[in-house]
Amino acid sequence: MVLIAFSWDDGAVEDLKLMDLSLKYKIPGLFFIPVTNTERNVLSGENIKKIDSSGFEIGAHTYSHKYLSKLSLNEAQLEIVSGKEYLEQLLGKEVNHFCFPGGKYNSELVNITRRYFSSSRTADTGALLGKDSFLIRPAIHFYDRGKLSLLYNSVKNMSLLCPAILKNFSEDRYFDLLKKIIEALNNYKGTHRMIVWGHSWEIEQFSLWDDLNDFFLWLTKNYSSNLRNYSEILKSNNISDI
Ligand SMILES: [Zn+2]
Repeated sequence: MVLIAFSWDDGAVEDLKLMDLSLKYKIPGLFFIPVTNTERNVLSGENIKKIDSSGFEIGAHTYSHKYLSKLSLNEAQLEIVSGKEYLEQLLGKEVNHFCFPGGKYNSELVNITRRYFSSSRTADTGALLGKDSFLIRPAIHFYDRGKLSLLYNSVKNMSLLCPAILKNFSEDRYFDLLKKIIEALNNYKGTHRMIVWGHSWEIEQFSLWDDLNDFFLWLTKNYSSNLRNYSEILKSNNISDI
């Protein structure tokens, strides 16, 4: 069977629309939110609280969404810690999950995040959750990068996603291919855990709201018992990668 969790990056104002759609279809999710971002407007504190109180998880995404690999380690640590502290003060609860801005990381940065969080998510797609419960590689980016990119990443990760993609490679519609991959994984022996990630601003920019609506509707109809919160899906120790 397959277990699925969603994570959404960047705290853009379109997250509120994404939250409403997730609530409509009862799709759990985690929102990784920086405090500021020079590239786009981010959610106000009040709106972050609204997402939290609506039952979604909140994760840290640094203070100002700078690519950490471009900073000194001291500067990177300050970005990591101040982003976490802001959210914790705002929400009055611990923030245990982190995500690297721009997917930029290295072993030193991973070690810093280990001191403050129980997981750090990358943007390396094509993986199912495996043995390492700290460094998290998502399976799929909810954005049409093309099926060749999807296949390439699954091969790179030696993931069970690879046979699932190959089996359905004749499917030309990207978002239908995603559904078929989930179906295939669900039929494989064992429990396989996948994280889907994306950005609400990207869904807006590329007019993917209808595709996301259709995907959520399909999940609710067929896989509602397979959906998990981000923190829940990480707890299971099943090893799904080959
Ligand atoms: Zn980001």
